[in-house]
Amino acid sequence: MRRVDVAIVGAGPSGSASALFLSGHGLQILLVDRAVFPRDKVCGEAISPGALSFLDEFGLLAEIERQGAFPYRGVLLATADGLVAEACYPDHRYGLAFPREGLDYLLLKSAASRVEVLQGTAVEGVSPQDGGYRLALKGKGVTDAVWARVVISAEGRFARVLTEPSRDPGPPARFAVVSVLEGVAGLGKLLEFHLLESAMQVVISAQSPDRAAIAVVLDGPQASRRAPEAIKDFLSVLKRDPLLADRIRGARLLKPPRGMGLEGYRPAAIAGDGWLAVGDAVGNMDPITGEGMFRAFRTAQLAAETLLLAFERGDLGAARLSPYVRAVNREFLPTYRFIDMVVALSRRPKLTRFALRAIATDPVLAERMAAYQGALAPASGLFSPRTLGRLALAGAHASVTAGTGLGPHT
Ligand SMILES: Cc1cc2nc3c(=O)[nH]c(=O)nc-3n(C[C@H](O)[C@H](O)[C@H](O)COP(=O)(O)OP(=O)(O)OC[C@H]3O[C@@H](n4cnc5c(N)ncnc54)[C@H](O)[C@@H]3O)c2cc1C
Repeated sequence: MRRVDVAIVGAGPSGSASALFLSGHGLQILLVDRAVFPRDKVCGEAISPGALSFLDEFGLLAEIERQGAFPYRGVLLATADGLVAEACYPDHRYGLAFPREGLDYLLLKSAASRVEVLQGTAVEGVSPQDGGYRLALKGKGVTDAVWARVVISAEGRFARVLTEPSRDPGPPARFAVVSVLEGVAGLGKLLEFHLLESAMQVVISAQSPDRAAIAVVLDGPQASRRAPEAIKDFLSVLKRDPLLADRIRGARLLKPPRGMGLEGYRPAAIAGDGWLAVGDAVGNMDPITGEGMFRAFRTAQLAAETLLLAFERGDLGAARLSPYVRAVNREFLPTYRFIDMVVALSRRPKLTRFALRAIATDPVLAERMAAYQGALAPASGLFSPRTLGRLALAGAHASVTAGTGLGPHT
């Protein structure tokens, strides 16, 4: 049986990034994915400025820009009744819209130049053996097993080779349907979040002056029931919002709409003796703020730092890997609270308007909010009395002078 130091299950952004961070340190690394790349993934396809820093570190930013990635310099928040607030990233930072098929392929190719990669090969099971793990592989003519001292689970949502979901998530209360449209009017250099009252949010990520990835997020107990219609009749569902209807009148679908339930899944653990989970495998994160790829890269980086130290000390036990769990919790629990807050806001039209007015009238607050959304500042800052106080004051002031600085989206 082949022996490696680290086996990485899944070669999406988190798995390929883990391979890149761990390479060059004398470790034998095997990266395995059941898919053959290029492969697609349901995604809003917006790479936040925080996530872009990692692509720069991997030497891929220039290539993505060369391949036509489209920049956005902040976010636009809009309600169905025409309230609009814009928030730009600080220091002229920007995010990029770029198709996942191309991004994930570039990451995989970069990883493949430094570590061994097996595509079209599923990891069917992982079992403890001789102080490490035996991985049963199947695919593309391979029916084999590999032994690894450490396993990284980068399997994406509902990872299960090493850990079971902590509970049955039940039917999703939110459901996303995504497509790419050409002929969309009114696109600018902002990532658009439309918080509509019909239990629906729409995220528009412009990929060119007239092409955009559009994600419709259906909300509430009927979300799964409404999903088939949104998949079958994507354009009609979008056209129910009068402002969006105008903008997509002449648009056509470039990709068949694809849907995905957004169940609140958390694994029972994200690390243990000789294993760690990274990216979406650490738990479901609602895409409403578009921070998934940042978490994929950052958890990969934290995992690699912890593992390199553990290899150096010759101890790969759960206790030695526990700083990783603490670091992930410290960094991402506030992000989850931020996301919960945005979802809760989107369900309360009055509060949504209050927050939008605050952001539209207070440039400092707007920049701060953009920084949290773009993973440029830790989301914990949002919950500081200073920021919450500013939000309350600006919102209250703007509500008194309602209308100031706000207008229908054109
Ligand atoms: C609707 C929607 C919109 C989103 N929009 C955005 C956005 O605009 N911006 C953003 O940053 N994030 C967004 N996200 C989140 C983002 O897509 C994820 O956070 C990101 O893909 C996580 O990367 P990952 O590598 O952890 O998992 P994945 O990208 O899911 O990759 C997992 C890989 O593991 C492989 N795999 C799984 N099991 C096995 C196995 N047993 N053996 C071998 N291979 C296996 C799979 O084939 C896959 O290639 C969105 C998510 C959704 C659902």
